[in-house]
Amino acid sequence: MTQRILVTGGAGFIGSHYVRTLLGPEGPGDVHVTVLDKLTYAGNPANLDEVRGHPGFDFVRGDITDGELVAALMPGQDQVVHFAAESHVDRSIDGGGEFVRTNVLGTHTLVDAAYRAGVTTFVHVSTDEVYGSIDEGSWPETHPLDPHSPYSASKASSDLLALSYHGTHGLDVRVTRCSNNYGHHHFPEKVVPLFITRLLDGGKVPLYGDGSNIRDWLHIDDHVQGIELVRTKGRAGEIYNIGGGTELSNRDLTRLLLEECGADWDASVVHVPDRKGHDRRYSVDCTKIREELGYVPRKDFATGLAETVRWYRQHRDWWEPLRAKAAL
Ligand code: NAD
Repeated sequence: MTQRILVTGGAGFIGSHYVRTLLGPEGPGDVHVTVLDKLTYAGNPANLDEVRGHPGFDFVRGDITDGELVAALMPGQDQVVHFAAESHVDRSIDGGGEFVRTNVLGTHTLVDAAYRAGVTTFVHVSTDEVYGSIDEGSWPETHPLDPHSPYSASKASSDLLALSYHGTHGLDVRVTRCSNNYGHHHFPEKVVPLFITRLLDGGKVPLYGDGSNIRDWLHIDDHVQGIELVRTKGRAGEIYNIGGGTELSNRDLTRLLLEECGADWDASVVHVPDRKGHDRRYSVDCTKIREELGYVPRKDFATGLAETVRWYRQHRDWWEPLRAKAAL
């Protein structure tokens, strides 16, 4: 029987890749996807061009905080996969209001409507940033939350709200916490596409502080693989970390991006003051999703990065208008 899935934030970077995959040749077949997306600066209808006209696809432009709209869309949906969020840490440092509204209030609006409409499964897509910062070792899912930025605090709040509908009402809520994603269709304000697009134009790239902050990098194909495993085989009320297995300092990441774009460090890198409250290192322990659901990241970082740079070289028509839109 056809599974009806409501995907929020499906016009963004990861959500659109998820929708294209679900409805593409590698997808499960027999799914109907309704995307609910407000089309903020980060939402781009062009990200969904590939699936427009697919019989299993609908698009609704709207806000996840709009209770009436969300209540009207929910009946008849079997599952919700919730990506919609304000997602850029730097913007949350400039002002957190929109982050609280969308990430906290929006998640509550969705999960409450899902419960009332009898939706079977609610997958809430979150982030490793909710755990804080870790100098050594990796966080298991049981690690206490210690978010530091308004972005990560709003995501931590949304995780707790979503899970409270499992604890209180028995709704099948599953939470994923992933590391830093990279890949094609990534809005050019985030470090990887920002650096690539600047370097392809012969411009300069800003490196925060001493560049020693460390992140784990996860290709979007692997993230989508992890979310699908959680949606189809995960357990109610559980949290699953999803990582890529490649830890890099920002300096090392910058070096690899310069190499891939054929640019020189001294001519291209500008050192800028560190981000306020910049977490030193993130590292997720992925034992649970690997042992329980068979998740193994497949994309090796060098290949994924080379493919990503190639995509940006070939798709100026996609990113040039966005740079202007985000005033980059
Ligand atoms: P994105 O910013 O590219 O896309 C967000 C999408 O949500 C956009 O299409 C936007 O229009 C939509 N949206 C925003 N506010 C909305 C609202 N009020 N109502 C309806 N739609 C709204 O984000 P992304 O990078 O694709 O991230 C998707 C999810 O994954 C987010 O929940 C984010 O917190 C999480 N995440 C992302 C990363 C990463 O590296 N990009 C890492 C960890 C977790």
